[in-house]
Amino acid sequence: MAGAAASISEGASDERVASPRHPTWSEVPAEQWSDWRWQLRNRITTQEALERLVELTPEEREGIAGRADSFPFAITPYYMSLVQGPGCPVRRQAIPHADELVTTPWDLVDPLAEEEHSPVPILSHRYPDRALLYATHNCPVYCRHCTRQRKVGDASSSPPRAMFEQVYAYLRRTPAVRDVLVSGGDPLSLSDQRLEEIVRALRAIPSVEIIRLCTRNPVTLPQRITAALVERLRPYHPLYVNTHFNHPRECTPEAGLALTRLADAGFVCGNQMVLLRGINDDPATVETLNRWLLRHRCRPYYMLQCDPVVGTAHLRTPVAAGTEIVDALRGRVSGLGLPHFVIDLPGGGGKTALTPDRLVRTRGRSLVFRNVEGREFEYVDAPMRGGPGTSEGGARSVARDLEPPTR
Ligand SMILES: *Cc1c(COP(=O)(O)O)cnc(C)c1O
Ligand code: SF4
Repeated sequence: MAGAAASISEGASDERVASPRHPTWSEVPAEQWSDWRWQLRNRITTQEALERLVELTPEEREGIAGRADSFPFAITPYYMSLVQGPGCPVRRQAIPHADELVTTPWDLVDPLAEEEHSPVPILSHRYPDRALLYATHNCPVYCRHCTRQRKVGDASSSPPRAMFEQVYAYLRRTPAVRDVLVSGGDPLSLSDQRLEEIVRALRAIPSVEIIRLCTRNPVTLPQRITAALVERLRPYHPLYVNTHFNHPRECTPEAGLALTRLADAGFVCGNQMVLLRGINDDPATVETLNRWLLRHRCRPYYMLQCDPVVGTAHLRTPVAAGTEIVDALRGRVSGLGLPHFVIDLPGGGGKTALTPDRLVRTRGRSLVFRNVEGREFEYVDAPMRGGPGTSEGGARSVARDLEPPTR
């Protein structure tokens, strides 16, 4: 962390916010615990280290061994301190399980066919106005449901700088791209300096209007959101942050401080939760999570159906679970707290929003809807052409083509 002013303000806030630590780290001085580099250096990455912290189940031991080559685990001491018994929502996102070894015939390694939409190896350009950059393959914690598990965790494959130059060149000659998502892996795994270089290079491209940082650090390593980092990046606004909270257990004072710091520095924050079986697939959990997010100026943006990636069959929910949650929240929670429920269609079909079916029947321009309480209401639609205020129609023509009500 650079600068005395930054350390004073950070020290003051960090002392006020501290969620309980695992006893193993109770003696670690506060300034080390709140130092993200210390957290990264002390990540738990071996079964031996994990066994000292938590009593593993036989299924977890089997999962750790079975996934050692395909998708190993890594957990920060901070996130590990949130882990409770075997059903704990944090534990199930972080510790491998034998269920990950079960593969269904429709599981895919690259479910979104991201490799096929890459004009440059580390850029995915699937929608006309936005593109997604894979800035790094590292993350503080490797989420067991990760869609990009084919890429993340492999530190040896970090993209070389020349590849970034290809990305900038592509974006310069493709001015249709106005929105660049800096993702990975987790871009906040990079140093402040490297991250600033990337953001500065993107900002220097006139056609790039907004830059989004896609990061789970506010959840798994909130200490990473230092005053120094936000000060360093704020000259490059408009910057958006897409983060990834999945459960109220992740909503700690530290995480709240990270979101507050981002919002105070002008970052526009949105949350992309992933629906996970037995973890957050019920309306009350999503409601509690979303209310906390709103209080911390982070808008629930997407509630994503878990992608059919190899090793996640046990975590996937039926699509109906998602529509039921949206249905239950509508009418109970402020519109600000209602995310879009989205499926990213396998094979590169792109994101598709699913909304509860409210339209019960139509007859001519009479549309009958069912509201959240289950009662029916009629709405008379505007005509496709003509009607009041146009040369083709007026009040009388509207009356003429209106069919009698259906009830
Ligand atoms: C999700 C995604 C985006 C961003 O989509 P939004 O709906 O605008 O959030 C852009 N590119 C790719 C490849 C994506 O998967
Ligand atoms: S932080 Fe994101 S990219 Fe990294 S493991 Fe988790 S879901 Fe995957």
